[in-house]
Amino acid sequence: MARTAAKAGIKAAHHGKVNHGKVGKVNNDGRRGPRSKAEGTPRVTLIPGDGVGPEVIGAAVKVIEAVGVKIDWDQQLAGAIALRRFGSPVPDQLIDSLKSTKVALKGPLETRVGEGYRSINVYLRKLFELYANVRPVRTQAGVHTPFSGVDIIVIRENTEDLYAGIEHQVAPGVVESVKIITARASTRIARFAFEYARTNHRHLVTAIHKANIMKLSDGLFLKCAQRVARDYRDIEYQEQIVDAACMRLVTDPHMFDVLLLENLYGDIVSDLCAGLVGGLGFVPGANYGKHGAIFETVHGTAPDIAGKGIANPVAAIKTGALLLDYLGHGSAGDRIRAAVNAVLRAGRVVTPDIGGKATTADMTAAVIRALK
Ligand code: NAD
Repeated sequence: MARTAAKAGIKAAHHGKVNHGKVGKVNNDGRRGPRSKAEGTPRVTLIPGDGVGPEVIGAAVKVIEAVGVKIDWDQQLAGAIALRRFGSPVPDQLIDSLKSTKVALKGPLETRVGEGYRSINVYLRKLFELYANVRPVRTQAGVHTPFSGVDIIVIRENTEDLYAGIEHQVAPGVVESVKIITARASTRIARFAFEYARTNHRHLVTAIHKANIMKLSDGLFLKCAQRVARDYRDIEYQEQIVDAACMRLVTDPHMFDVLLLENLYGDIVSDLCAGLVGGLGFVPGANYGKHGAIFETVHGTAPDIAGKGIANPVAAIKTGALLLDYLGHGSAGDRIRAAVNAVLRAGRVVTPDIGGKATTADMTAAVIRALK
């Protein structure tokens, strides 16, 4: 018998049309996660982030306030702005806050290409062992895309792979990046994916790999997934090589349900999947561990539109709804999702990424008006 979700510290819930994972409030080591509704106002670390982060996270906070859920936000700086202010992109007060609240709503953080400090996102996910990155990708009524009815859950391993950041120069002109894959992390993420599938009434888990080339590393990932799959006979399991999977995703996305991926493939395939449903402005995300969670959109700092007030706030608002689910306010989360859907269906107050003229603030106000 498989280890249960509760034992794994994971509870998942099905709220109406939206499926999502939740981490248990009392962890299996007895330490407290976020407080429940009955215990009073939950304290959550709020990281506005860089680029469009403050604009879209501000939108999410406004909508959460409007839906009537009280949260004691502990605002903290991270990334480029924290480096300028405190001399570190991960100041001590940020880490202290996360250690105490164990839950955060986080905007995107800039990571320079080919230079500068290592990704703070990767650092935080590893520091707090937030091993499961969950990204629900769904077609939105009112958003015109080549496919309708896309409904895919991307589950990405968050702690290893090439993201271990082990790189060195072997000789001038020759560098080496080390890909770490362990049985422990591969088994843990596979079990998370199957538990998620079972609890959320999903029928198929597809492991995506390149084990034809990386026979040892991706081979190990697959062996672990196969072993776990045997414990979940009620859920179909299949494997696809990553390149072919990408082709099938853009020609017939309906053949997929839950995707199980290593870190790098998960990162790339998430953005591909976002493209299927209208772009990065629509896909929320969460990083879950045994002892906490960080909620963040799939999209980054969007430097090309930062400061213009035109970022699509939907991904951040829906990420806020996932946070509410986690805090035990699933019906408030559902009300937010319904309001977002109503605004998109009406199509009158939408941002330029989907052909509208509205600002982030206009669209946020429209979502708040649509709350029932
Ligand atoms: P990006 O996601 O920031 O932007 C890619 C494209 O999508 C851009 O054209 C952008 O304008 C558009 N876009 C993104 N979010 C949007 C929104 N809400 N509304 C409308 N359009 C939106 O990816 P990038 O440009 O490759 O990365 C920029 C920076 O963000 C990099 O420093 C990267 O490392 C960082 N990043 C951070 C995170 C994170 O913090 N979790 C995730 C991804 C990227």
